[in-house]
Amino acid sequence: MIVEAYKIEIKGLVQGVGFRPFIYKLAKRHSIRGNVENNNEGVLVQAEGNRNHLQQFIKAMKAEAPVASKIAAINIKVEPITGFENFSILPSHSYSNEITEVSPDIAVCDDCLEDMKSQPHRIDYPFTNCTHCGPRFSIIKVLPYDRHNTTMAPFKMCDTCHSEYTDVPDRRFHAQPVACNHCGPRYSLHLSNGEILDDFETILKKVVRLLDGGKILAMKGLGGFHLSCNAFNEDTIRLLRLKKNREGKPLAVMFANVETVRNYLHVNTEEEKLLQSWRRPIVLLREKKPMPFSVSNGLNTVGAMLPYMPFHYQLFEKLRTPALVMTSGNLSGEPVIIDNEKAVEKFAGIADDVLTYNREIYNRLDDSVCMVVNGKERVIRRSRAYVPASITLSHNTEGLFAAGAELVNCFAVGKGNKVLLSQYIGDLKNPETLDFYTESFQRFRHLFRFKPSLAAADLHPDYFSTKFAMETGMPIELIQHHHAHIASCMAEHNLDEKVIGVSFDGTGLGTDGKIWGGEFLICDLIDFERPFHFENILQPGGDLTIRQPWRMAVSSLYHYFGEDFLRKMQGELFPYVEQEAFDMVLIMLKNRINCPETSSAGRLFDAVSALTGVCTEASYHAEAPMRLESVAAENVRDSYPFTIQEDQISFKPMFSGLIDDLENGKSSSVISAKFHNTVVTVVEKIVEKLSVTTGLKKVILSGGSFQNKILLKNTEILLRKKGFEVYSQEQVPSNDGGIALGQLAIAARRRETGKSIKY
Ligand code: ZN
Ligand code: ZN
Ligand code: FE
Repeated sequence: MIVEAYKIEIKGLVQGVGFRPFIYKLAKRHSIRGNVENNNEGVLVQAEGNRNHLQQFIKAMKAEAPVASKIAAINIKVEPITGFENFSILPSHSYSNEITEVSPDIAVCDDCLEDMKSQPHRIDYPFTNCTHCGPRFSIIKVLPYDRHNTTMAPFKMCDTCHSEYTDVPDRRFHAQPVACNHCGPRYSLHLSNGEILDDFETILKKVVRLLDGGKILAMKGLGGFHLSCNAFNEDTIRLLRLKKNREGKPLAVMFANVETVRNYLHVNTEEEKLLQSWRRPIVLLREKKPMPFSVSNGLNTVGAMLPYMPFHYQLFEKLRTPALVMTSGNLSGEPVIIDNEKAVEKFAGIADDVLTYNREIYNRLDDSVCMVVNGKERVIRRSRAYVPASITLSHNTEGLFAAGAELVNCFAVGKGNKVLLSQYIGDLKNPETLDFYTESFQRFRHLFRFKPSLAAADLHPDYFSTKFAMETGMPIELIQHHHAHIASCMAEHNLDEKVIGVSFDGTGLGTDGKIWGGEFLICDLIDFERPFHFENILQPGGDLTIRQPWRMAVSSLYHYFGEDFLRKMQGELFPYVEQEAFDMVLIMLKNRINCPETSSAGRLFDAVSALTGVCTEASYHAEAPMRLESVAAENVRDSYPFTIQEDQISFKPMFSGLIDDLENGKSSSVISAKFHNTVVTVVEKIVEKLSVTTGLKKVILSGGSFQNKILLKNTEILLRKKGFEVYSQEQVPSNDGGIALGQLAIAARRRETGKSIKY
C-alpha cells in the first residue's frame, strides 16, 4: 500500500455552501487523514492516504460537490508525509482583503423539506435551512460570512441548533442561518383591519383562504416582497394591475411543481433543468394551454418559476390553485420593498393583507429572469441566486468601478481579476432607485473591501450613473454604449482580440452625438470602429416615441416616401391617431423640431410593430418589439429586401414590401416573421462583408434586441452555418444590465495598455 500526501487547493465559490463538511464526509468515506480549512482563495485540503483512495477522493470532490458551489480550479501538490491520525475541519481565521466570493441565496433543499416533516424541533418550520440551502447574500452585512455578521445576529441559537451547528458531520455544521421553531425567525400576518396574527398554523390557513378566495396579498420573500394572487383568477389579476398603477408588464407566476408548469407551458429539457435548479429563476416559457389573459397581457409567453422558500411549499400543499402570480412588491418604477413597516404602509391600498417575518433583508434582490435559446441559459435579469457570483477576467480589475447604464442599471466592481456585478438595480431616473444604487455601491465597497481608483461610465453625460461616477472624483474612462455591449459579451467568453460586433438595442449615445442602436462594430477591448449602421431616422418627440411607437412608423414612411404618400396612407395605416397629433408629428419632422436622429434597432422594431397594428401605444419598456416577436408566425422563410448605401443599411425596400403586404391583406403574423427574417439576413450579409474585408471570423451578438428569441436563435444558427464563430450572452444580460461588465473590461484593458481614449 502506497501512502501519499497531497496539498489540494480548491478555488472558486466554495465558501458558505457547505464545502468543508462535504470534504470532511468524503475524507471519512475514503479513509483520508488530514484537514480542511477556508483560505482567501477558497478551500485548502491536506490529505494523506492510500494513493487509490486519494484519487477517488479527488474524483468525488468534483462529481459530488454541493449544488451551489462552483469549482474554478483544483491544484494538487505532492507533499512530504506529516502522519495525520484523523481528518479535521480547521476553524477559519481572519480574512484578508482578497476574499471576494460570497454565496448567492440558495433555494431550500430536499433534505430540509424532509426535516420539516420529521425533525421534532423543525416540524413545519418555515425558515428551515442548512449548509446546502437558505439565505446568503440577502442577509450578509460584512465578511467573513459568520452569523454575527448577518441579519440572523439577533436570533440566539437554541441548544439543539447549536449542537448541530458545532457537530462536524451534521448538515448544519456552520450553517450560519441555522434556526428552528424554538429559536428562529417567525412570520406574522398584518390584516387590513390592523389586527396582527402570529401563530404560524393560523397564518398559513388564513393566507391559503385569502389567496384561494381571490384576495391580493403582499408576502415577504427572500430578497423582497411579492404581490401575490391566484394566477387563475382573471378578475383579481386585473385588479392587481389596476392597483399597481395600471401595470402593463407580464406578471411572473409561481407554479406548484414542474408537472403543473408542463400542463400550461412548453418546457424542454434545458428549461426544466433551469426551473428546478437551486437558483429557481423565472424562466420565460411559451404558452401551451391558455392562462388568464391578464397574466401576460396577450404575449405568448409566461414567466414561470417554482417554489424556493419553505413557505412556498407549505402554501401549495394547502392551496387549491396550482399557481400564484408573484410579482415584485414595488410601486411603479421603485425598487422592490424589503422593509416590514414600509410594506404595511405602502401596500395598504394594493394588498388586502401583508405577510412579513422578523428577519431583516439586508441586500435587496428581485427574482432573476432567464430564457433558454439554442440550448443555453440566457440571464435577462440577474439578481436573486446569481448575485454576487463573480466573473473572472484575464485582466487586472483591482479598483475598477463601472457605473453601468441608466434604464436597466446594474454596476460592477473589480477585485483582483474578478468582476462583481451588482444585483439588478432598475431605472435610475426614479429617485428611490437612485438611492438604492448609491446604497448598494456603498455596501459593495464595504462588503468586498473595495477601494475604487478608476471609474468607467457611459458616454451619455445625462445618465445618473455617469453623473454619479463623475461626482466620486475618481479619474474616469468614458465608454460608448454599444462598444460596452460587445465588450460585455467578450468578457463573458474571455475574448481579448479584434472581433465583429453586432450591437442592437433601443438607445445609446453615439460618438457623433446621435442616438445609436443598430450597430456593426469592428472592435477589441480598447476601441472600436463603426463600419455599418442602420440608416438614421428622425425620432419625433425623442423618448416619447418609445411610448408611442406609431410615431416611428410615421417618421419612417415620411423619411422613405415623403409627405404626400404619408397623407394618402394616413386613413388606412393610422386610423387610430388623432388628426391633430398626426399633423403635429409631421410639423416636427418637416422642421426637425425635437427630432433627434437615430439608427436604433429598437425603434425599427417599434415602427414595424405599429405599422402592422400589433402595438401602437406601449405601456412598458420594449412592449412593441415584444409583441411583434410574440405574433411572429413560424415556418415563414420569406424576407423583405434592403439596400446598403455606403455605411448605412436602408430599409426603404422593406417598408415598401411591407406596405404591399398590408394592402394585400397579409396577416401581422406573417409580416412580423418576414421582418424578423429580414433583420437576420441584414446581419448575415453585413457580417460576411466585414469578414471579407477584415479576415475576422468571430462574431459577437449583444444589446437588448438580442433578448428577442427569434432574432438571437436564427442569427446564431445562420452565422454558424456560414462558418462563423458566434458568441452571445449567457450568464450576463444582453440588455443594459450587462453594460457594466463591458465598461469594466474596457477600462481594465485600457489601463493595462495605458491607452485612455477621449471621444
Ligand atoms: Zn437544506
Ligand atoms: Zn433552534
Ligand atoms: Fe443598450
